[in-house]
Amino acid sequence: MNENVRQPEAPLSAQPALVLFSGGQDSATCLAWALSRFASVQTIGFDYGQRHAVELQCRANVRRAVAALRPDWERRLGADVLLGIDLFQQLADNALTAADMPIEGGSAGGVPNTFVPGRNLIFILHAAAWAYQRGVRHLVLGVCQTDSSGYPDCRDDSVKALQVAMNLGMDSRYTLHAPLMFLDKAATWQLAEELGGKALVDVILEESHTCYEGERGQRFAWGYGCGACPACLLRRRGYEAYVRRRAASDQDAGAATPDLEKDV
Ligand code: ZN
Repeated sequence: MNENVRQPEAPLSAQPALVLFSGGQDSATCLAWALSRFASVQTIGFDYGQRHAVELQCRANVRRAVAALRPDWERRLGADVLLGIDLFQQLADNALTAADMPIEGGSAGGVPNTFVPGRNLIFILHAAAWAYQRGVRHLVLGVCQTDSSGYPDCRDDSVKALQVAMNLGMDSRYTLHAPLMFLDKAATWQLAEELGGKALVDVILEESHTCYEGERGQRFAWGYGCGACPACLLRRRGYEAYVRRRAASDQDAGAATPDLEKDV
């Protein structure tokens, strides 16, 4: 076994979990996180009229490749479901679904024009409604407030408030898990390494899709993409920072007594 693989600290839960799974870096890491903690894990995704179908095509590849890394993960991985939500085009003009709108990054604290108001809240509510009859109460989300594009529905308060609203409104007891909430993108790569070693990092690099432009023609060190859209820039910066931190920590480990838990 890879010496960098850290065994999960939390005991394995016998309860099932549902990962909101887009096939991107964040949800791929969340899938590995859930497979390390829950006895059975299903995935759910949304076909919301994305500009590019490539994101949906990548989902199956990421799922298969992540589970194949460990026999126990393979055993725990259950079914995948894809829900169609085609109302975003009717709700708002946005570059995520409008093929003729150029993608622009946010400026002065603004969010990029890929923003659909409340999109993640809508996804989580749909996932919870799907999970209700199936007895699944643990939902795992790849949302992050530290290093996202500034989407307000990815923030910790939004997710916590939604959990309370869901538990009241559905008279149930859901737990929303957001393991990446306070990680930056570099730390998300680090978490992937801790969960599944370099093999998981390599799977995420090769199979996951992040680019808003749907570009997979060119392979960079950080994966496939156009290299210029806000999602690619975030992914590239995060990966480069992860590689730098790793190199620095390898240097420290060589110079002093190794203390692998120090920075965890
Ligand atoms: Zn891109």
